[in-house]
Amino acid sequence: MQTFTQRADVRAFTTAARQTRQRVGFVPTMGALHAGHLDLVRRAVAACDMVVTSIFVNPRQFNNPADLAAYPRVPDADAALLAEAGCHALFLPDAAEMYPAVPQTTLSFGSLETVLEGAHRPGHFAGVGLVVAKLLHLVAPHAAWFGQKDLQQVAVIRQLVRDLDFDVALEVAPTTREPDGLAMSSRNRRLSPQERAVAPTLYRALDVTRTALLRGATVAAAQAAGQEVLAAEPAFQVEYLEVVDANTLQALPPDEGLPPTETAVVVAAHLGAVRLIDNVVLPPALS
Ligand code: AMP
Repeated sequence: MQTFTQRADVRAFTTAARQTRQRVGFVPTMGALHAGHLDLVRRAVAACDMVVTSIFVNPRQFNNPADLAAYPRVPDADAALLAEAGCHALFLPDAAEMYPAVPQTTLSFGSLETVLEGAHRPGHFAGVGLVVAKLLHLVAPHAAWFGQKDLQQVAVIRQLVRDLDFDVALEVAPTTREPDGLAMSSRNRRLSPQERAVAPTLYRALDVTRTALLRGATVAAAQAAGQEVLAAEPAFQVEYLEVVDANTLQALPPDEGLPPTETAVVVAAHLGAVRLIDNVVLPPALS
């Protein structure tokens, strides 16, 4: 596996691959790789001739400086995992390389940005959108892989690609979980043993909400059932547990049941100093 730290070098590498008619796949990450990331890489390797993974802890998408400072960085271990997964190139720029000048361009995403992660993390999606747009221009992949774990991010990037005509196929992979249900996340490394032990409650709350909806409960009743699960665990500071349209991320009418469109149950909560998010997606109700 080759490692590039310079924008010009990764651009030259994928330009050459495209010129020899190779299909280029791309997996953007912030590193501290786990099995969820590696699943994305393996999917890309299976579908493409040349796969680039980027590792860049993007300062512009952190609204909390303490979270940025504490974000785990283990590039050597990550590189070994990527090579083992069959990745062909690692793009590992530093912040000065990605942002040689302070960017003056701002992206915004309309109603997608006013809810959930957008509402709780001001500026987060502007930062995500900017770095993903830059990375897609630099790598120019035929296809790029993202995780359903970050459902709202997928919706934002889908909108970015559609509105700005990026010539890339977006592929979304299901969330990889620990055996106890906890969604894999680089931030899980920062949980204390006690916090790690209660963390799967987050998924249990999603599951209780999902089951209630599938049994015909209203959105409000199902949401209350999930919130009750979280309330029973005092270690959590819950930001939200909501039932939303899986594509627009907008809240569903509280007094109705599952709609004839895809629904998501989404949750965000702090466990000590660590903020965790998760979601499950339900198929459209049968009519
Ligand atoms: P991150 O390094 O957290 O920015 O994540 C990089 C990519 O991996 C994003 O597309 C995430 O949605 C995806 N990802 C993170 N955690 C998981 C997981 N547990 N399962 C599947 N994909 C994931």
